[in-house]
Amino acid sequence: FRPEYTQLKVFRNSLPDVPFMALTATADKSARKDIEQQLGLQQSKLFISSFDRKNLSIEVRGQVPKKKKLQEIASVVEQKKGESGIVYCLSRKNTEEVADYLNQEGHSVEFYHAGMSPEDRERVQTDFINDDTKIIVATIAFGMGIDKPDVRFVIHHDIPKSLEGYYQETGRAGRDGGEGRCIAFYSYKDIEKLEKFLQGKPVAEQEIGRQLIFETVSYAETAVCRRKQLLHYFGERYEDENCGNCDNCINPREEFDAQNEMVVLMKTILELK
Ligand code: ZN
Repeated sequence: FRPEYTQLKVFRNSLPDVPFMALTATADKSARKDIEQQLGLQQSKLFISSFDRKNLSIEVRGQVPKKKKLQEIASVVEQKKGESGIVYCLSRKNTEEVADYLNQEGHSVEFYHAGMSPEDRERVQTDFINDDTKIIVATIAFGMGIDKPDVRFVIHHDIPKSLEGYYQETGRAGRDGGEGRCIAFYSYKDIEKLEKFLQGKPVAEQEIGRQLIFETVSYAETAVCRRKQLLHYFGERYEDENCGNCDNCINPREEFDAQNEMVVLMKTILELK
């Protein structure tokens, strides 16, 4: 299995004609196909509930310099003062830096990553669930099995390495059906870092990894409705033209006629062979 498959549960069913049942929370089309194949599920029936979480507002902010990014995160946290939230970072070091910054700005923050002792991790989780700590800055190690209903925002300090991960992590916001604000920061540097992580891994894993990163990049750069694009990734069709709850729908990108620029570009490519 690919490493992204989390929480896949397989049951031996009591019904004689349905020997197996497999449940998973988040799996895209190819993941579902893979699961069917790996488990040898022939003539299986597929039950999928919609991936759409209407109460989540989604936004991607591109190419924000490091310092400004911290300020923007602090400003979102400030707007949501007193509410619970999670800030996801790619590296352990970043979680500590961002937590420090937010603490200095006067917020109730702790960091969380797999390099901490089990006792410390347990304590941070409990503090979060009991509302003693409002904000956790964490690597993706945080959140598995945490079902806190009133998380009001999930911020991705760095772009995640797959849309499945992104969906799972943003999905921790607004579980009570109330508001959930999801903001992801994205830069080319993130992509370079993610690609670097892949080096040294088995070739097949690298290929899958690159494909997942590519999907994330096109999600981050798209000008179409993010909800539509995300649901499309999970094999679902979103019919509405404007979801009203993503940055691309609320502030549509300006369109312009680029014919002349395109001609110049094509000519340059041709001339340079
Ligand atoms: Zn939209």
